[in-house]
Amino acid sequence: MTTHTIDCDYLGAPGVAAAYLLEAGDELAFVETNTTRALPLLLGALAQRQLRPEQVRYVIITHVHLDHAGGAGALMRACPSATLLAHPRAARHVIDPSRLVQSARAVYGDERFEGLYGEIVPVPAERVRALDDGSTVPLAGRELSFLHTRGHANHHFVVHDSEVGAVYTGDAFGIVYPGLQRGGLLAFPSTSPTDFDPEAAVAAVDRIASLGATHVYPTHMGRYDDVAGIADQLRPLLEVSGAILAEADSSGREGADLDAFCAERVDALFDDLLTGRGLGADGRARALVDIDRDLNGQGIAAAVRKRRYKRALHGRDLQ
Ligand SMILES: [Zn+2]
Repeated sequence: MTTHTIDCDYLGAPGVAAAYLLEAGDELAFVETNTTRALPLLLGALAQRQLRPEQVRYVIITHVHLDHAGGAGALMRACPSATLLAHPRAARHVIDPSRLVQSARAVYGDERFEGLYGEIVPVPAERVRALDDGSTVPLAGRELSFLHTRGHANHHFVVHDSEVGAVYTGDAFGIVYPGLQRGGLLAFPSTSPTDFDPEAAVAAVDRIASLGATHVYPTHMGRYDDVAGIADQLRPLLEVSGAILAEADSSGREGADLDAFCAERVDALFDDLLTGRGLGADGRARALVDIDRDLNGQGIAAAVRKRRYKRALHGRDLQ
């Protein structure tokens, strides 16, 4: 099995998000699709190697966030023999992406949405296969296994290729930008909206680390061989994120006050991280993490609101 890393030029920059092309014998699979805007890059990766779209047996998405699955429909249309493999809770959103599109448009506005994602093409239901935890699928006589990993998103799985010792980790094993690996390894978790759950996220990191893999491919991005090193960085950062969540929750802050509190705490966390690697004054490094900084703060605030909502529902049940 050969893995080709395709830089999807996400947000118009290199080194931000990847899709992976798995080549095994004459069978192919894509892991992640990025957005519809990346389709020429994905098809170009085939053409460059004299491979044909008809050889693509699977299109795999780790979860439905649009930098992973936004291009799934367009890629499936271009690869007529492919089956789309997704988490059971993700499958319905690729078959009918209207809710995804609606919430992304609400976050980004119509113009920015068009620029980032382009058209989101639905995938015909008969071409989608939902995979339970522990499922396996064959690829050129080998086996890929699928492990459900909550914490970043409830509809997230990772793909384990035990024969070569690789795990395609989506967003469940941190963000590891190549451009930040200058003062030693630097990995941090994505706590973006709307499903962030710190305990589940640590459990996912532990589960991936315990597979005995020799390397991981986070979607943000590239191949990394220091699997234990990444896990060791993610656990304490997830704990701090959980502590910010708990403090924000118990503080009783609401609305813009809650958002500002989470943003401030997460900003400080990122400042410490960059400073610790000698990147505190590096404009390029700061620009690279700016989007995650914002998203991580928003995700923790969203998790506070979700917790409160659940408690309110539970309280009502008890009355
Ligand atoms: Zn994600």
